[in-house]
Amino acid sequence: MTYRANDQRYDNMTYNRSGRSGLKLPAISLGLWHNFGGIDAYENGRAMVRRAFDLGITHFDLANNYGPPPGSAEENFGRMLKHDLAPYRDELIVSTKAGYYMWQGPYGEWGSKKYLVSSLDQSLKRMGLDYVDIFYHHRPDPDTPLEETMAALDLVVRQGKALYIGLSNYSPEQTREASRILKGLGTPCLIHQPSYSMMNRWIENGLQDVLDEEGIGSIVFSPLSQGILTDRYLNGITADSRAAGPSVFLKPEGINEETLGKVRKLNDLAAERGQKLSQMALAWVLRGGRVTSALIGASKASQIEDAAGAVSNLAFTDEELARIDAILG
Ligand code: NDP
Repeated sequence: MTYRANDQRYDNMTYNRSGRSGLKLPAISLGLWHNFGGIDAYENGRAMVRRAFDLGITHFDLANNYGPPPGSAEENFGRMLKHDLAPYRDELIVSTKAGYYMWQGPYGEWGSKKYLVSSLDQSLKRMGLDYVDIFYHHRPDPDTPLEETMAALDLVVRQGKALYIGLSNYSPEQTREASRILKGLGTPCLIHQPSYSMMNRWIENGLQDVLDEEGIGSIVFSPLSQGILTDRYLNGITADSRAAGPSVFLKPEGINEETLGKVRKLNDLAAERGQKLSQMALAWVLRGGRVTSALIGASKASQIEDAAGAVSNLAFTDEELARIDAILG
């Protein structure tokens, strides 16, 4: 059946300006790292993308290597664009990245101009797009001069293959230097994509200050700590969960009794606030307006509904924040 987007899709989502740019992003964005690859059920991924857009989630985040197999998330998203979202292209912000290993030989990873330009061309082909809205360098490259990597990002914007550019996993110092180079080239950095959650607060030690000073927005990945900061594991590790799957980033050993004890207390606090724990975890990263967007993953449409519901209560009392800090020690 032909997809027609929900007419009320913009009624309840919040949109935040990314740094000092003209671009607004939804407070909740959807990433396609897990559950959208060639090994996954296509119709489930399609249902999640449709549901997200119907809830006002206008931003979908990809990377060259998302799958598995690598590239297949972009291929699947390309199918969804073609069949469902093509009429809405101008309402969408699509991002992709290059930086991690993608193909063999010396030009298949890191930060050379050769790799970045070739990889973006491949991504555009897989998604059937003329341009992406945001193209990221996925991780810093210790060997390529930063000037070359930034010149490659500037180049793809001038070529019309990307509208904006972003950095991911760069340290505060690397971000400041990259931003200086990019401003000089006339293509300011739109956004930084770091990890951030109640359990992982590294960006508070310098990166957020650099982003504020440079006028760069932030979209934070794994705000739910890959599912730990939800009710997912309160009754054990079920077969359909990420921890039970092949992920090397979330293993059953990572979900021990000590962690679950804290999660239970957070879950109680969320209930007092009238929220699910997942919603409180998203509200927490968005509190105070310093983060532009919380970038979630999902394995079912109901999780995206939970996430979208978080924006109706983003405020915390000082007492609640202190309780969260005390629980997480
Ligand atoms: P999250 O922390 O949001 O974890 C998502 C997982 O949490 C889901 O797959 C699901 O797990 C579980 N979950 C989500 N909502 C609920 C809910 N309401 N109730 C119960 N469980 C829930 O983020 P991700 O780690 O998936 O990362 C998000 C995105 O960030 C990626 O898709 C990618 O776009 C980006 N990213 C970028 C990186 C980078 O280096 N730049 C690195 C990593 C991610 P389950 O599958 O078990 O149901």
